[in-house]
Amino acid sequence: MPRRFPPHAIDLGGVRITLLDGGALALDGGAMFGIIPKALWSRAVTADPENRIKLACNCLLVEMGARRVIVETGHGSKYGDKEQKIFAIDPTWWLVPALQDAGVDPATITDVVLTHLHFDHAGGLTWLEGERVMPSFPNAAVHVQEQELTDARANFGIMTATYRAPNLDPTMNWRPMTGEIEILPGVFALLSPGHTRGHHSIRIAGKDRDAVFCGDVMPTAAHVGAPYNMGYDLFPLDNRESKRRILATVAKTDAILVIGHEPNTPLVTVRPDGDWFRLEPLAGA
Ligand SMILES: [Zn+2]
Repeated sequence: MPRRFPPHAIDLGGVRITLLDGGALALDGGAMFGIIPKALWSRAVTADPENRIKLACNCLLVEMGARRVIVETGHGSKYGDKEQKIFAIDPTWWLVPALQDAGVDPATITDVVLTHLHFDHAGGLTWLEGERVMPSFPNAAVHVQEQELTDARANFGIMTATYRAPNLDPTMNWRPMTGEIEILPGVFALLSPGHTRGHHSIRIAGKDRDAVFCGDVMPTAAHVGAPYNMGYDLFPLDNRESKRRILATVAKTDAILVIGHEPNTPLVTVRPDGDWFRLEPLAGA
């Protein structure tokens, strides 16, 4: 399958972010919208005959000085026939082909920052050479909240097969962090628990503008509403509060919001709207 969109670069002022097509998958529409009735969510999103909705795996390349940082790695390539069908995953198109398509050698990536370690976010960390698990970014440090790494290794969650050992390969250069820290110069963790306990969003600060990658706090633009949680969220009320906080931060600073699973409008801005928020397409995106 060819890429769905070409690499899209934005200069934030001393920092360049490039939106990359890290693949796509399909998940059950009901599970994706939690308590929201299909009569409502189906106005915004079309389900396939198996009631699945199409989701992108949007990833970012962040370039600043000598650093080349990846935010989120998508689903990766490690799927047999059955899972390829269940999730509508094409294992030939994932983050590494997308990077190569953008002219970037994965060996030059210095850091990988992940919102959390579910398979559709951490799957691109490794690939299989025969039976052997190989790191996709052999020279990169992998940054994630310590709580998330601990929970992933303990398989803490309600989805049984979402934390997967090959994505948690202990030989990688893991750099677990605690709390709301500056992960790398200009790259900040924004704690946003709810989908998982250790979930964080990622703010990239440029001289002119910031970008915020919200992760599964708000997987698609159709999830902007307050009660639009996923059935997969471990703590829906916490997720709602995290979403309020992230949207308020983005609105206040007029940052660019990058929506991880949004297939059509992944780059947006946020405006206050009554006691909540609405999204607007990013000019020129
Ligand atoms: Zn996800």
